[in-house]
Amino acid sequence: MSSALDHATIDEVAASIDDELIGMRRDIHRHPELAGEERRTSALVAERLRAAGLAVVTGVGGHGVVAVVDGAGDGPTVAYRADMDAVDDDELFDCAFSSQVPGAAHLCGHDLHTAIGVGTALVLARLREQLNGRVVFVFQPAEETCEGARAMIEDGVLERTAPREIYALHCAPLPVGMLAVGPGQAGQDGFRIELAGSDAADDAKRFAAMIDGLSTVGRPHAPEQVQRLMDDMQIPDGPLARFVFALSHVSSGDDGARVHAWLRAWPDSRYAEIRDEVRRSVGALPGARVEFTEQPFPAMVCSPELNATAATYLRGALGADAVMTLHAAYPFNGDDFADFLQQVPGAMFYLGVANPEAGIHGLPHSPDFGADERAIGVGVRAMAGFLSSRLDALV
Ligand SMILES: [Zn+2]
Repeated sequence: MSSALDHATIDEVAASIDDELIGMRRDIHRHPELAGEERRTSALVAERLRAAGLAVVTGVGGHGVVAVVDGAGDGPTVAYRADMDAVDDDELFDCAFSSQVPGAAHLCGHDLHTAIGVGTALVLARLREQLNGRVVFVFQPAEETCEGARAMIEDGVLERTAPREIYALHCAPLPVGMLAVGPGQAGQDGFRIELAGSDAADDAKRFAAMIDGLSTVGRPHAPEQVQRLMDDMQIPDGPLARFVFALSHVSSGDDGARVHAWLRAWPDSRYAEIRDEVRRSVGALPGARVEFTEQPFPAMVCSPELNATAATYLRGALGADAVMTLHAAYPFNGDDFADFLQQVPGAMFYLGVANPEAGIHGLPHSPDFGADERAIGVGVRAMAGFLSSRLDALV
């Protein structure tokens, strides 16, 4: 497979904006904005891409931004999505550009995702004379609440741009310089058990223990546990081929007790099985009742074929050792990129941001999440090349 854009050309253009993108990431990191509040971040993105001559539409599904790189030649349309919002927590990772907003921090790496999206668009815009087709950049708000993708889709982003494929990247606890392809991310489900009577508090504890007992995997804390998890994810049909991760919380008052439960599982068929199990157990106790969320949020399922195509391209571009194939979804995070993948085939790739020697494990949603910023340049080079290769392949 050949790309119109060779890697040396991409590398040269990308190198000219590496420092700018790191600066942009730090700026966004200092000024994190929670889901639905991405005014400053989206304005920054729109302003930079307009300055580069791209057609930019703002206010799509909230603070979403859509920017289009039109190649000089005719061809198909592919899309690339980057999420922009921060996590509602404080960060522990100490850096010179720490969050200046109490209760908000980029603990999921969306600041890097945004910088990579901007960088990829800038590189392709500079090389548009060699591009055949169109790349649509979708900067999405409100990923953390699983609302932003749906809001942009409902606002017509896919209908208006009609991409044949859509891609995204997510930071991952892999060594910086590496990328991985994988099956996707788990969806999620939740329910509440209401208990009454004099034994309500004890019953609640019993149900909470049952819910916790559904977990087949525990959240890693120590670096060696993270490593073990990443190793397990590389085993076909390994221990994470099917998993459940369950959390419970008990609250009680004068009127009884309740148990809140939150689940991630892979594959999605596990949710129906778990709902049946829970209904049976709760039904066996008079006076107890369970309420489920309307329906589970769907898993993000990547195309196995496009993953294989991407792995081949990325190995050629970045080196055979730089690309890993994962055979299991990461058990503790989901992503509402799921909503895009339900409409358009594509994949999310995993971008290594870890640097253990520097004390950076790169585990998203940890309070001490940190990222090696060299990952931004890796992501830009990988995605600029891969997206242009898809335009050529889809002609
Ligand atoms: Zn995320």
